[in-house]
Amino acid sequence: IFARSVRFIVGAVSSKQLPSTEVKEVAFVGRSNVGKSSLVNMFLGRTKAAYVSKKPGKTRQFNVFDVNSASVDSRRASSVVEESSPWSPSGRFRLVDVPGSGYAKVSESYRDEWKVFLREYLGTRDNLEAVCHLVDSRVGLQKTDLELFELIGESGFAGDVIIVLTKVDKKSARAAEVLAAVRQAAPAARVVSTSSKEGIGRAALWRALKGVVVP
Ligand code: GDP
Repeated sequence: IFARSVRFIVGAVSSKQLPSTEVKEVAFVGRSNVGKSSLVNMFLGRTKAAYVSKKPGKTRQFNVFDVNSASVDSRRASSVVEESSPWSPSGRFRLVDVPGSGYAKVSESYRDEWKVFLREYLGTRDNLEAVCHLVDSRVGLQKTDLELFELIGESGFAGDVIIVLTKVDKKSARAAEVLAAVRQAAPAARVVSTSSKEGIGRAALWRALKGVVVP
């Protein structure tokens, strides 16, 4: 499963800069270093060239990508391992890469701005159908993850929350324990286990989004 095309639309720092809402959206959120850029690249079947989340000075932006809006994209990664699935996504949707919180170097005023924007985005974005909340299976739920659960809850967001466990490599010793903690903390959420390093969980994530943002 690959995205047919991925196009960067805008790096938004306020709601006003977000594109119009006629296309369904899925947001990816999580602490910095959770493995978000690796996961999104694996999910879309892209190399790093198509998707860069860490440009200096651009860390505040909600990066919006148009997926499957064009018929071909030659930047598809050929090295990504394909998981077997009879289904191939064709519909257009948007992917919004929300910058990470909980980074030690981030100032308090930045964190406040980030929270205000994220709460507003989650609570008011009509076309936002799903939020993928990434949790690092090797470090488990952190304070910032719990804050994120709380923020999603109080924002009024009524769509799907999908917890994406990252770095669930074959040798990951803590993954089962972290999965249990996640299920307890968010009993209603679907959980998808992934490893970008080992190419695990891509098809499962596409399936989790099928009928939500992907037709
Ligand atoms: P981001 O800051 O959330 O965008 O995270 P990155 O994708 O840049 O990854 C952060 C770190 O985690 C990097 O050192 C990656 O090599 C590592 N990483 C990402 N995905 C995996 C994975 O599936 N398994 C392992 N073991 N490490 C990973």
